Amino acid sequence: MSRAEQLEQALAALEQRIAAACAAAGRAREEVTLVAVTKTHPAGDCALLRDLGVRDLGENRDQEAKAKAAEVDGVRWHFVGGLQTNKAASVASYADVVHSVDRPALVAALSKGAGKAGRHLDVLLQVSLDGDPDRGGALPADVPVLAEAAAAAAGLRLAGVMAVAPLGADPALAFAQLAEVAARLREDHQDATALSAGMSGDLEQAVQIGATHLRVGTALLGRRPPPIR
Ligand SMILES: *Cc1c(COP(=O)(O)O)cnc(C)c1O
Repeated sequence: MSRAEQLEQALAALEQRIAAACAAAGRAREEVTLVAVTKTHPAGDCALLRDLGVRDLGENRDQEAKAKAAEVDGVRWHFVGGLQTNKAASVASYADVVHSVDRPALVAALSKGAGKAGRHLDVLLQVSLDGDPDRGGALPADVPVLAEAAAAAAGLRLAGVMAVAPLGADPALAFAQLAEVAARLREDHQDATALSAGMSGDLEQAVQIGATHLRVGTALLGRRPPPIR
């Protein structure tokens, strides 16, 4: 089977899963955006997915993402990984959405980079659901101040929140906590409606609590080859 056929089959199976999850949650499929996380897979896979109709692709390393964004057009690029401040300007030059904004210094750096590039970015605030900031994410208590910074930053639009379910935790409980943080955020920022949650293993639980963006890698592209260095 060709890679194109492989991806087509995996996408059809994934679409069935998403449709079933939406039906179970009483939600419309159109409320949920699939972000295909293509990290470590070749740019050719990105182009194949685009040609199959996947319009949102996610990456987690600047160098790799930048190269793919230069090679593959016609998609929206989502940056979903931990981001060093010194890489922010580069990411701002090609990304459309950054899901991993977790500290004020990163807001400032992305804003500056967006300004330099003459671009606008949607930003999601990454929330830590296990209280371990080493794994990325702002503590829920720090979200309001971070949100104010993002909302006020030139070139950035505060779009919502993102989280990864903690290892070993019940994703349904973790995502319910995220949904609460999201609801509180919308009290002050009505347009910050994006809720990025759910990966290959827990997308059903994410759809159940109202996720608007699913970040799916393995279930679509298969196991990841070792990172490109
Ligand atoms: C790799 C990655 C994903 C995709 O994970 P899968 O389990 O392969 O679907 C989603 N979100 C983030 C932040 C990632 O780094």
